[in-house]
Amino acid sequence: MVFIDTHLHLASPDYRNDIVDVVKRARDAGVGQLITIGSGYGAENFDETIQIADRFDIFFALGVHPHDADLGLSSCNEYNARIDSILKRIKCAKSNPKMIAIGEIGLDFYYNHSPRDLQKNTFSALLELASEVRLPVIIHSRDSFNDTIDIIRSVRQRIKGGVFHCFSGTIENARVVLDMGFFISIAGIVTFKKAVEMQRVATYVPLDRILFETDAPFLSPVPYRGRRNEPAYVVEIYRFVSDLKRITIEELKECVLNNVMNCFCIRKEDILDTFKR
Ligand SMILES: [Zn+2]
Ligand SMILES: [Zn+2]
Repeated sequence: MVFIDTHLHLASPDYRNDIVDVVKRARDAGVGQLITIGSGYGAENFDETIQIADRFDIFFALGVHPHDADLGLSSCNEYNARIDSILKRIKCAKSNPKMIAIGEIGLDFYYNHSPRDLQKNTFSALLELASEVRLPVIIHSRDSFNDTIDIIRSVRQRIKGGVFHCFSGTIENARVVLDMGFFISIAGIVTFKKAVEMQRVATYVPLDRILFETDAPFLSPVPYRGRRNEPAYVVEIYRFVSDLKRITIEELKECVLNNVMNCFCIRKEDILDTFKR
């Protein structure tokens, strides 16, 4: 059974010089599928993500990261025209069968790289798109839990669900997310010695709702902490959580494969038979 890294940013400039090696190391480590995220490096960093997904035969998601919610504009006057054109581009990309979600999208009130009202606007616009194109969503939420939940609740009946990625909330927060029918994705932070709350959350999240991700190039798990992250390191997250949950890595792989199928509505053979050698 394979490992799956459900969230990373292969279009990041950090991989420009050695992406082939990075992907090869992941495969050699037993990683059988990746979901690369076309959001987080400017409002329209789509083409590179689609090319990478096609080249390596992996899945991708497109969205507008909360950091880019102002769409890089200095004046709000242009916002409406610009968001419309971005939504259209994402909609067009949906004809590619490798596109499996809208994301990452959400709210980030920790960094506040974009004004909060624009973050909410852009988030809502992308949720509407997800409802229209019938794709699940990948949610980024930092220091914004209640606002994120309020916005999702208002459209919950119309969207397919999805995942809260790089989850950093409390057990109470996790319960709310699970009650809404969402999956919870655990990133490498869980392996940090001081991440006691996150370890409690990882223990709490049921086996039929858990996903794992590197969020590479950021946040390498122990023992790679401080270095550039890469998909091969997802193995360390599986290993750590299998200890927490007192089950074998093989059992955990099986659960995650099923969860990826359920969360993103993809068939087992489409997950396992791709990812070119
Ligand atoms: Zn994120
Ligand atoms: Zn990310």
